[in-house]
Amino acid sequence: MLTPQLPEVPLMSDPTPFGWAHLPSPPLSSIAAGLMLLGSPALGAGDVPCPFERVSERVYVIVGSDHQTCSLKAGDHPLTNPAIIVGETGIVLIDPGSSRRVGRLVLERVRAMTDKPVVAVFNSHIHGLYWLGNQAVREHYPEVPIYAHERMINRISQGEGDFWVDAITGDHDGDRTEFIVPNHPLHGGETLRIAGVEIKVHHFGHAHTDHDLILEVPDERVVFLGGLVVEPEVPSQGVPRDADFQGQIAATRQVIGLDADAYVPGRGQPDGEVLPRRALSFLTALYDGTAAGYDEGLTDFEVTRTLKGDLADYQRWYDFAELGAVISQMYLQVEQERF
Ligand SMILES: [Zn+2]
Repeated sequence: MLTPQLPEVPLMSDPTPFGWAHLPSPPLSSIAAGLMLLGSPALGAGDVPCPFERVSERVYVIVGSDHQTCSLKAGDHPLTNPAIIVGETGIVLIDPGSSRRVGRLVLERVRAMTDKPVVAVFNSHIHGLYWLGNQAVREHYPEVPIYAHERMINRISQGEGDFWVDAITGDHDGDRTEFIVPNHPLHGGETLRIAGVEIKVHHFGHAHTDHDLILEVPDERVVFLGGLVVEPEVPSQGVPRDADFQGQIAATRQVIGLDADAYVPGRGQPDGEVLPRRALSFLTALYDGTAAGYDEGLTDFEVTRTLKGDLADYQRWYDFAELGAVISQMYLQVEQERF
């Protein structure tokens, strides 16, 4: 038993915990109940798959990885959570999806809701599922500003744009997506007013990546988490080498401190504070368990075997079988920390 304690936040009891907006059973938290009352899943989009779902008065999200209502066929739907803020004079689009094709689908869904133009795009981080849809937005709105952290822009320019096109759109599209580099660099700490809506930009240091943008809409009491929190899946499993796990723990504490009513994860269902708290509990247990195993002289392989047992309550989370990749990276970071 390497973990000092199991997470104190109760896990979801439903084996496929997506879909609080659709479930007849009581939601997980009082805030989720409040959101569900606000909810109107289809919003004029008819019965199309992956409609925008209402999170707050002005905030809507396509829960792209809802495998219960979306086809798993790659390219037919977003695998992340494209979201919009409906401003007074236009739409702010956050993370337009994994390819031109998915970006076009997202725009179709926007047009099914409103005639307002897209007036700004935000990219939360460089992992290709989240931002390659920029191309579709630029096709329709050639002048639209695209905001991202400066380091994301630099990394794209240094070759990672091509990497992500090869890695993602080869699987999702018949035709090749072109990456569109964001043109408005941010650093965190900015407060923007776009289409009449105030947006606070946060960067809490190296966490899921070295450039995560966390967006807060104070008037809506909503926070967009990007890749910092995804659920139900092992955090940072996709590209563990990009993560600083102690930083991810610290940044997750920071987003909890923003005290929002609703948190929109990069993948999975929005929820109240319970969402980042679950992620924090899991990451903390994983990191502390890895550190304890390191201090006992175990190899990363032995740590993984032990922690898979200790954390078995999470075994339904996506990529749990691949936990070893995250633990190996954590193990290296613990090693560096000890020197
Ligand atoms: Zn990511």
